[in-house]
Amino acid sequence: MSSKRSGVSLTEDEMPRKWYNILPDLPEELPKPKDPEEGESRVEMLPKVMINECLGQEFSEARWIDIPDEIMDLFIQAGRPRQLFRAKRLEQVLKTPAKLYYKAEFYSPTGSHKVNTALAQAYYAKKAGFERLTTETGAGQWGTALAYAASLAGLETKIFWVRAVHDWKVARKNFMRLYGGDVRASPSNSTKVGRELLKENSNHPGSLGIAVSEGMEDALDDPQAVYCLGSVLNHVLLHQTIIGLETKKQFEKLDEYPDMVISCLGGGSNFGGFAIPFLGDAIKGKKIHFIAAQTDVSPNLQGEYRYDFADHGELTPMLKMYTLGHKTEMKPIMGDGLRYHAAAPIISLLRKHGYIDTIAYPADEKYVFDKARTFIQSEGFLPAPESAFSVACAIDQAIECKRRNEEKVIAFNISGHGFMDMEGYTEVLGLQ
Ligand SMILES: *Cc1c(COP(=O)(O)O)cnc(C)c1O
Repeated sequence: MSSKRSGVSLTEDEMPRKWYNILPDLPEELPKPKDPEEGESRVEMLPKVMINECLGQEFSEARWIDIPDEIMDLFIQAGRPRQLFRAKRLEQVLKTPAKLYYKAEFYSPTGSHKVNTALAQAYYAKKAGFERLTTETGAGQWGTALAYAASLAGLETKIFWVRAVHDWKVARKNFMRLYGGDVRASPSNSTKVGRELLKENSNHPGSLGIAVSEGMEDALDDPQAVYCLGSVLNHVLLHQTIIGLETKKQFEKLDEYPDMVISCLGGGSNFGGFAIPFLGDAIKGKKIHFIAAQTDVSPNLQGEYRYDFADHGELTPMLKMYTLGHKTEMKPIMGDGLRYHAAAPIISLLRKHGYIDTIAYPADEKYVFDKARTFIQSEGFLPAPESAFSVACAIDQAIECKRRNEEKVIAFNISGHGFMDMEGYTEVLGLQ
């Protein structure tokens, strides 16, 4: 039955209506955020900068959390449910006995899966009476997603964007402005953290950790503003489970179940959103191989499992996670959304328990983009540079299946499209 299908769609009525919260199903209790030994309490500061509803979800022990009707409407507005494609042409090119399926998160108005949590956060912020959202962005996908969600909700947004990326992604900057976003290169002179760093180096390239500090400081200083984070935290992964829950239903329709679940991982939101519903089954004993595809620039899942700050400026509480250290300098890459020092606490804990494998691809990205080219030439879609890591990993596994003559079902997520990232492909693959 599945052999003739090139993809599986769900109807709007078949969309999941609850998010899956894995916290009560984890093999041990998730370590709580904690304060450093010195300084003010960051944990007590959280309710002052974050959306209350999201903070509640962050620590909720309820296994299923209703998606409000208004957010369901927003998901549909954003084009959900998204298709699951069988990569038949790619299978033929690779001559693999494996069956490859990819989830099409690239069908997103702004280009990435990040709209899933942006829409939810903007909705909750509006409902709580806020007027403005503040945030950070690295590659720019999260800033665009939040500016989009804010514009639908009738909110303002201020986006602190890592300067090294901000300065050259002119089209994406104007895309955010088109949604009404107020975009600042970070470090900026509109916060204390930013001004101090600019004093040391007026051309400071910035980092995601620094931009997080700026966004939080900005929200702390303005009671009308609230801070939103695009990855790492439990509630962000919760909102993203819509990806994996849809995918599970699609596999049910196909009468198949994946042997392998693969995606790229920076902070862990798309990997988590895609994999968590399947990880729930793995904890109950189902055999599934999970692989997180990372860059050698920030192979955070190969770091140390310990408490660390989520930001450079140490404004956040400390979270127990696999980390490379919050002050670590990491060279900018084309798939800059993967460049973050630590992995989400939920993903980290499951890695510690042996559920998640990881691979880090070379920093020059040639290997990864070359594999993406094979995908582009056979399937036709242009993956975001970050998603190219997921594609490369799925292709590697399909080739491995060929070597061992194994007919595995491989599911991978394509977290975004690369329409605004052609410079990356051009430079790395030497297209001109
Ligand atoms: C931000 C981003 C990522 C990396 O972030 P995660 O939180 O690890 O998902 C991956 N792909 C795309 C397209 C992104 O925008």
